[in-house]
Amino acid sequence: MTSTTPQNAPFGSILTDLMAVATYQDGQWGAHSLRAVGPIEIHPAAHALHYGSECFEGFKAYRWSDGSVHVFRMDRHIERLRQSARSLVLPEPDAAQLAEMVTTVVDRCRAAVPDAPGALYLRPMLFGTMPNIGAAATPSNQACLIVLASPVWDYFAGGAKPLRIYVEEHATRCASHLGVVKTGGNYAAALGPTLTARRAHQVDQVLFCPQGEVQETGAANFLLIKPGRILTRGLDSTFLHGVTRDSLLRMAADMGYQVEERVFTIAEMLDWVGDGEAALSGTAAVLSGVGTLVRQGGAEVRVGAGGIGPETQKLRAALVAIQQGTSPDRYGWLRRV
Ligand SMILES: *Cc1c(COP(=O)(O)O)cnc(C)c1O
Repeated sequence: MTSTTPQNAPFGSILTDLMAVATYQDGQWGAHSLRAVGPIEIHPAAHALHYGSECFEGFKAYRWSDGSVHVFRMDRHIERLRQSARSLVLPEPDAAQLAEMVTTVVDRCRAAVPDAPGALYLRPMLFGTMPNIGAAATPSNQACLIVLASPVWDYFAGGAKPLRIYVEEHATRCASHLGVVKTGGNYAAALGPTLTARRAHQVDQVLFCPQGEVQETGAANFLLIKPGRILTRGLDSTFLHGVTRDSLLRMAADMGYQVEERVFTIAEMLDWVGDGEAALSGTAAVLSGVGTLVRQGGAEVRVGAGGIGPETQKLRAALVAIQQGTSPDRYGWLRRV
């Protein structure tokens, strides 16, 4: 039996001691406060518990080698939470207040920010608290906004392994207009198909490709990569617009890659991976190489040489260098706390 020390704790399983909390009622957000992390009181008739009015964000603060702490693209994540709130007809968080909540939590939990390659994962969450079980078709006029923080260590403790991905040709990850919304129900919806594929094919994740068009996995975007070229689905409402995806595409264009954002099919993906690379992008894993695609029925398709490709490693290293302060932040993506 191995014990769980912080350095090998599963992602997200450890929280800092403090969280920031704000509530919305009577048409406005109240002042936020810092509280010890622990159970909160919620009415059993709360809107979120019955009708799924919940959304969240995930991003990181990094400790540089000089000890300073920097949050990556916070404003973009706050804007995405506000967009999720609008889609779910939840009260929109105030951007300045939420930024203050995040930076206060980072500042007060500064000692808990791990050294590289670890980081402090930040998790703002918003949920409807109006107590009314008859409100299936009525928006919640009360809400709670909480910022949690979790020290996370190397996502690839034990070495980065190429991923095995199941290519799902029929099931959708979520309702097509909600793909762009980071809402809890989407993850519940993807869980069944993901567990089924894991049991049947020992895969890490499922790549959803309804109608044969490649979308994304349960919690990461999907990129095809070759020397000097990247192909990924263009932004539409069917999938989550990752900040990591956006960052990688901007950097790649400046590194001389030709970036194509458009719809592409499973057939085109299979053709690409004959000699190309495939990778998943997201805050947690940055850019993770795919080694094998598993098709319906179990046939396996090797991606390139089956390992983590050199282009994937190069792009990943370039983004990590900006986040860790070892290469200049010429995009203004980092905010020192
Ligand atoms: C959070 C998430 C991503 C990645 O978004 P980042 O902003 O890059 O972290 C991609 N897909 C889904 C479904 C997600 O929930």
